[in-house]
Amino acid sequence: MDKMEGSFAVEDMQNVQINIGEIVKEVEEWDQPMGPFPCPSIATLRDWDFKLINRYRVFYSPICDRCTLCTYGPCDLTRSRGACGLDQAAQQGRIVLLAVLMGCTAHCAHGRHLYHWTLEKFGDLPFKMGEEILVDAPLTRTVTGTKPKTLKEFGPVLSYIEEEVAQLLACTHTGQEGNYRDFESKALHAGMLDSLGKEVSDMIQIIAYDMPRGDEDAPLVECGMGTLDKDKAILITYGHNLAGSAEAMFYAEDNNLWGKVDIGGVCCTAIDNTRIGEGLGYPEEINTKYRMVGTKAKIAGAMGWWRKMVEADVMDCVMVDEQCVYTNALQECQEKKVPLISPRRSSRSTPSPAPTATPASSSVPPTSR
Ligand code: SF4
Repeated sequence: MDKMEGSFAVEDMQNVQINIGEIVKEVEEWDQPMGPFPCPSIATLRDWDFKLINRYRVFYSPICDRCTLCTYGPCDLTRSRGACGLDQAAQQGRIVLLAVLMGCTAHCAHGRHLYHWTLEKFGDLPFKMGEEILVDAPLTRTVTGTKPKTLKEFGPVLSYIEEEVAQLLACTHTGQEGNYRDFESKALHAGMLDSLGKEVSDMIQIIAYDMPRGDEDAPLVECGMGTLDKDKAILITYGHNLAGSAEAMFYAEDNNLWGKVDIGGVCCTAIDNTRIGEGLGYPEEINTKYRMVGTKAKIAGAMGWWRKMVEADVMDCVMVDEQCVYTNALQECQEKKVPLISPRRSSRSTPSPAPTATPASSSVPPTSR
């Protein structure tokens, strides 16, 4: 019997377990050669970063002259190096790298959550951005050299970001990087990863929730607390991750509740709510059951309006998700007797457990330098 190349026959075998790892596609349809640095690591673009940093000089506005990031400290860096040898310039670069990593991880974690959630809810979906988009996922293509064809193919992109973030965060540990220029190069690397993570997050939600793609006639939505109907029950969904508020909107649609309920978003969730079901008509579940459901949601306001909303007493229930949520939202809702739903573990608006014992105080006072 002729055998095809790459196939194999298993005969007369029992109790054999076969594990198949990643299947690598043989041919990628690129109309240009692969660039020199797909999925660059920390040092790959270092020389280029230095060129940029020399041309566009970095400006620091230090908010603190001391370092308290390890137990050798606190160290006063105004006159001498810290106990670990770090100087003031490197410490400023280190803090900036940490700040960039905070944003990068928040966006990447959001993308990872959406990736798991949408695959579980809708299954793998074709990645199609429609005829109006000439180059889809441009950052993913440029940085990783891949062209995702399905949602699942964004998984390796997220894994790449996550590994780089772990390596970058390790660089901020005591006794690692000591040069401010290298911290700046690493901050640029983290910034690139941040942009990539944001693109992946948006690509996933655009496809899974069928949002408009290059549509010049996408519906416009009015903004502000005044758009909420106080004769209805008002649910405010607050944060950056639409997964939870989309479920509330689907529930309102399934149960014909829009005459009794207004759902208004705060911060990025507000915009994303109003984009659901307005795209190219797939996935089928969104198209058949929730077409144009986004036009029924309201944009209650930006994050800065949260306090005004609390004071205005417009909310009957609040659902928080992640990022930019006032960390005392729970206490404020408790004072107003407004129920708060927190479906995300990363949201700090969930009650803390009561302390069981007084924390033991250290018998060794910190070294003062
Ligand atoms: S020893 Fe270094 S890392 Fe630790 S507090 Fe001092 S300067 Fe910061």
